[in-house]
Amino acid sequence: MPIYSPPARDMAFVLHDLLNVSASDIPGYGDLDPEMTAAIIEEGGRLATEVFQPLNAVGDREGCTLENGAVRTPPGFKAAFDQLRDGGWTQLDCDAQYGGQGMPHIMGTAMGEIFAAANMSLNMYHGLTHGAYSAIRAHGTEAQKAFWLPKMATCEWTGTMNLTEPQAGTDLGLMRSKAEPQDDGSYRITGTKIFISAGDHDMAENIVHLVLAKIPGGPEGVKGISLFIVPKVLVKEDGSLGARNAVSVGNIETKMGIHGNATCVMNFDGATGYLLGEAHKGLRAMFTMMNEARLAVGLQGLAQAEAAYQNAVIYARERLQGRAVTGAENPDGPADPIIVHPDVRRVLMEGKSFIEGARALTFWAAMLIDRSQRMGDAEAEALVSLLIPVIKGVQTDRGFETAVQAQQIYGGHGYIEENGMSQFARDARIAMIYEGTNGVQALDLVGRKLAASGGKPVMAFFALVKDFIAANADDAALSADFLDPLKAASKDLQAATGYFLKEGMTSPNNALAGAYDFMHLFGHVALGLMWAQMAKAAREALDAGRGDTAFYETKLATGRFYMARILPETMALRARIESGADTVMALPEEAF
Ligand SMILES: Cc1cc2nc3c(=O)[nH]c(=O)nc-3n(C[C@H](O)[C@H](O)[C@H](O)COP(=O)(O)OP(=O)(O)OC[C@H]3O[C@@H](n4cnc5c(N)ncnc54)[C@H](O)[C@@H]3O)c2cc1C
Repeated sequence: MPIYSPPARDMAFVLHDLLNVSASDIPGYGDLDPEMTAAIIEEGGRLATEVFQPLNAVGDREGCTLENGAVRTPPGFKAAFDQLRDGGWTQLDCDAQYGGQGMPHIMGTAMGEIFAAANMSLNMYHGLTHGAYSAIRAHGTEAQKAFWLPKMATCEWTGTMNLTEPQAGTDLGLMRSKAEPQDDGSYRITGTKIFISAGDHDMAENIVHLVLAKIPGGPEGVKGISLFIVPKVLVKEDGSLGARNAVSVGNIETKMGIHGNATCVMNFDGATGYLLGEAHKGLRAMFTMMNEARLAVGLQGLAQAEAAYQNAVIYARERLQGRAVTGAENPDGPADPIIVHPDVRRVLMEGKSFIEGARALTFWAAMLIDRSQRMGDAEAEALVSLLIPVIKGVQTDRGFETAVQAQQIYGGHGYIEENGMSQFARDARIAMIYEGTNGVQALDLVGRKLAASGGKPVMAFFALVKDFIAANADDAALSADFLDPLKAASKDLQAATGYFLKEGMTSPNNALAGAYDFMHLFGHVALGLMWAQMAKAAREALDAGRGDTAFYETKLATGRFYMARILPETMALRARIESGADTVMALPEEAF
């Protein structure tokens, strides 16, 4: 069966060598010294490996069941969730004012990777709650925050996000759920939502559903959508539980992966709901917490890749097939381990270089979120908003690819369920779809984020790349292996950005046909920047004689692989983008 071990050493490198978190001026970061972060990662990592991970295959095999209108989670999930809750892990980066421990989001992100890698389905019950918590914290009245948040921080009450309806997926303007105002200030919510993750389960005494619905008489389309708090069980004024609300589970979906997470059809039959934020501004309220939610999904892509990759490495060392072309490396055995073969190495290097680059990018983004939330830094918020669709889209696409490639290392054995490699690929697949499909992430990037604030955030990103290259130009080793490739890739990205800014207004199809390629081009440059910065950090650690030479040398070699073998893909992506929409849109619909 698969194993998982938290990448504590690499996380320490990102947090301390690369981002130097404890020296940051962001409130709360001063406490994040290496001892403190290592202790948190070790303690949470133990729960992940000893409790979460062994249940991953159980959840996949047993799935959730619907019995008499209630969802039962797979055997062992409830006890594991109790341990997550009792250990205070759900409260880690929640607001200290509302039941949380007040740790920075970057630590929630590190632990989120570990828990999602160990058991993505189980971790989602907490992840959705965290998303709902953030929405109430950002948009609730003081009374709502005090009433709902403390029990959500502890996951005594979990949370969900109810957007999707059968006819309204990407296009939420088509939504039909309605919310009728009542004399007491509450609303009666009626409608059906589908695909609701963690919509029901047996691990908490209450579930706080956040539901998008339209108040009759409001504006048409997305401008008429409002957001409501709709609890499964009504809560009395003193905080104790009252009667069941008119919320029920219509069905649970049978699906490709994340079997341990209940994906529910939710029926709201005149359920009592409470307006969250302003009427008709529900979508805007959802958007403000989207950075966090999409970062969490990008993190799932990375987490599944990491777990799958770890197992592929073990298998590649153990599986004996063929001989190294350069001469036997295991002469006493019947064959060499497959890790000697260059094509197997290629797969492992692609996985390793993606994962470590993505971890750096995700943690940096979490740091930008902390900077924007804890210091009100608008530039940090604008920059992270630009990076979020890239992180969500690229990391889930490549996370899935990495999981599939790790499965490939197992040959036919990867296709056999009992070896567990198929689950990584099946679980990773959903991250490319929910929280906005990756095609929609690309549209968000090109259609909204590039032009945001007159293009200031994208210019700020280019300036970061340019300044880093200029500041390190005298470093010959860094220049040849890292800065020159980064400069070339950044040129491709700038040219493609210029193409969109020129074409966007006059020929929108040209922009939209290249949006997906652009998202990946941007991802390559962002990961390239991370690798150049990591190389510099590794070199400094070596020069300073900080020990752990093998780790830092490995980091440099992995970075060189990324810059030489992966980054040049920007040339092809740029060429595809600049070919425009003509060939994409050439065929009439009936030719398909
Ligand atoms: C397991 C699972 C869990 C989920 N969890 C939740 C949840 O907790 N809460 C919730 O509210 N929803 C949830 N969803 C729903 C999910 O977010 C939607 O499925 C997703 O946003 C896409 O909507 P759709 O399925 O209706 O596809 P559609 O919107 O019909 O899209 C179909 C295809 O068309 C493309 N497309 C659509 N519009 C455009 C456009 N304008 N330009 C270019 N391409 C376009 C899309 O990229 C996609 O490839 C979940 C779904 C699944 C399968």
